[in-house]
Amino acid sequence: MTRTVYVNGEYLPEDEAKVSIFDRAFLMADGVYEVTSVLGGKLIDFAGHAKRLERSLNELDIKKPAVFDDLLEIHRELVRVNDIEDGLVYLQITRGAPGDRDFVFPDPETTEPTVVLFTQNKPGLADSPAAKTGMKIISIEDVRWGRRDIKTVQLLYPSMGKMMAKKAGADDAWMVQDGHVTEGTSNNAYIIKGNTIITRALSNDILHGITRAAVLRFAREAQMQVEERNFTIDEAKEADEAFITSASAFVMPVIEIDGVALGDGVPGARTARLREIYLDESRKAAI
Ligand code: PMP
Repeated sequence: MTRTVYVNGEYLPEDEAKVSIFDRAFLMADGVYEVTSVLGGKLIDFAGHAKRLERSLNELDIKKPAVFDDLLEIHRELVRVNDIEDGLVYLQITRGAPGDRDFVFPDPETTEPTVVLFTQNKPGLADSPAAKTGMKIISIEDVRWGRRDIKTVQLLYPSMGKMMAKKAGADDAWMVQDGHVTEGTSNNAYIIKGNTIITRALSNDILHGITRAAVLRFAREAQMQVEERNFTIDEAKEADEAFITSASAFVMPVIEIDGVALGDGVPGARTARLREIYLDESRKAAI
């Protein structure tokens, strides 16, 4: 089945969808995105993603596209026409294509933002084997720009980070700035000591994960302690458990950091419990 995508008001087969070579995202990574997961044909935490999208647009002074209020309907339509039971919906909004290349932002009166959405079909997304086996991660220096709270399409370094991990025989990388872990290449990072979850506090240094917000809320409701503070890779190696969160991985255990096994070297019980609660509650609230 050919995938149907959405581009600037039209639903099209993917091979007929086109964006200008002068699009600011192509030339300058001048665009933002969101990823919303689909479980059982329904969207997980759509409201949270829409809110963060609006914030990303505001922070970059990108005009809110006229279609903004229809985004839920567009997500649902793509899920429907592509017959997605479990999967992901990617959304990208760029500053548009002014018809030439210039560092100066185009006039928003005459250049409309580009809006693109596409789906990925991922049957069994919530039953990923990695949830049972756990992930191995390496640490790398965080050399990204200083506004990681904005979800831009500027993903080259995270992509390089994944390649560094792969080359090292690991699954992903945690990035380190001034000796402290910021986040994973495409996820937020956590360690657990006893009954306490430790994760970096929100700032411009990390993406304000939608999954992070939900998981910390569920953790507090389940009587776990939450400390939002910096931690080092050395502290992480000594932790009882570690995990990551993202809209596509949900809650995923980490079992090894820079070659050092955590705890018993298998996914931890608290991480498994958090994953279960997150998936149960998210499915209940899905729309
Ligand atoms: N940090 C980074 C750098 C990410 O790319 C992502 C996933 N897009 C996250 C954190 C997790 O955010 P969310 O839970 O909203 O998917």
